[in-house]
Amino acid sequence: MADTQDPVTTLTASCLCKSTTFTVSIPNSKLPIPTHLCHCDICRRFHGTFAAFHADIPPPIGLNYDTLTSFETPCAVRYFCSTCGAQVLDRAKEGENWCVSTAMFNHKDVDDIFEYTAHIFVGDTKDGGMSDWLPSVKGKELKRWKTTPKGRGASDEELPLYWRATAPPKESAKEDRVHAHCYCNGTSFYLHRPDPCKMSRELAEKRISPRDPSKWIAKVCACDSCRLAAGAQLVPWAYVSKGHITQANGEPFEVTFGTLKAYRSSPGATRTFCGTCGAQCHYVRDGEDIVDISVGLLDAESGTRVEEWLDWQTEKLGYPEDAEGSGLVKACAEGLKAWGRRVERRKEYTS
Ligand SMILES: [Zn+2]
Ligand SMILES: [Zn+2]
Ligand SMILES: [Zn+2]
Ligand SMILES: [Zn+2]
Repeated sequence: MADTQDPVTTLTASCLCKSTTFTVSIPNSKLPIPTHLCHCDICRRFHGTFAAFHADIPPPIGLNYDTLTSFETPCAVRYFCSTCGAQVLDRAKEGENWCVSTAMFNHKDVDDIFEYTAHIFVGDTKDGGMSDWLPSVKGKELKRWKTTPKGRGASDEELPLYWRATAPPKESAKEDRVHAHCYCNGTSFYLHRPDPCKMSRELAEKRISPRDPSKWIAKVCACDSCRLAAGAQLVPWAYVSKGHITQANGEPFEVTFGTLKAYRSSPGATRTFCGTCGAQCHYVRDGEDIVDISVGLLDAESGTRVEEWLDWQTEKLGYPEDAEGSGLVKACAEGLKAWGRRVERRKEYTS
């Protein structure tokens, strides 16, 4: 008798430290899997990124719960690696619905497996967030939902490209500090405006925006290490100096404070994440004054791109060579450039 079973494609997921691995078997008839970017406040604070890259999958195989920490939200249980903090999966509290961070797979293995179809909860970003940098992936336009088309939220409204609920930040309205915190609030700190007197000249040149000295330089990293630590293919960082961060209690910055845990991701570098909710928080180099802050933690008036504080480097992603073969990352590189030119034109027009 002929084998009538649907052939399957098996994918292997792994976190940065490799203590969490599992496989997912997907019937070929279900491919490609519709995948969305979730821009909701919860996902942003859990990953420390602009959005989560999520796909519904069959129950994972070989998951070792001993390597994971769980955190419950109102409708789901989220799992992150207890050693490196990678947000790998979540499971709905009702039923057996699993959702995976698609970043946990190698780009080349999944470029045709996960098909990006939509941005959801764009309304939470206030400024469009990263959805403006990914209008389409591999030639296919992504829908942009204010909440979600599934009716979980208050409306199914679609939003246009470059939508924003807030006006672009006014150059005159400059708070002197901005709050940052993870989802559970166990890690809470403030970032202050750059003061060239508090850092070396060399560092000031690298970290303070040459166009607006009240802003820090920010960049989106596409490297494998950031991908596997944050559970996101595109990881936004603000490049700052240590002396400009204070803990919520007023104490100066330390590598670990509050609920932070540290993971040595490479010789000379430490990544920190919240030990309670798993949010990726900082990247710190030994013996240097520099700290990278996960932009998803910042609470700016204008929205998630934190434009009143950050000058985005739009011409190039960090380490695009690590993401070779990823239609998603390539699309972001192009979308970011287009957005950068648009912002420049807006400034010329208003100045
Ligand atoms: Zn890990
Ligand atoms: Zn979400
Ligand atoms: Zn936390
Ligand atoms: Zn990186």
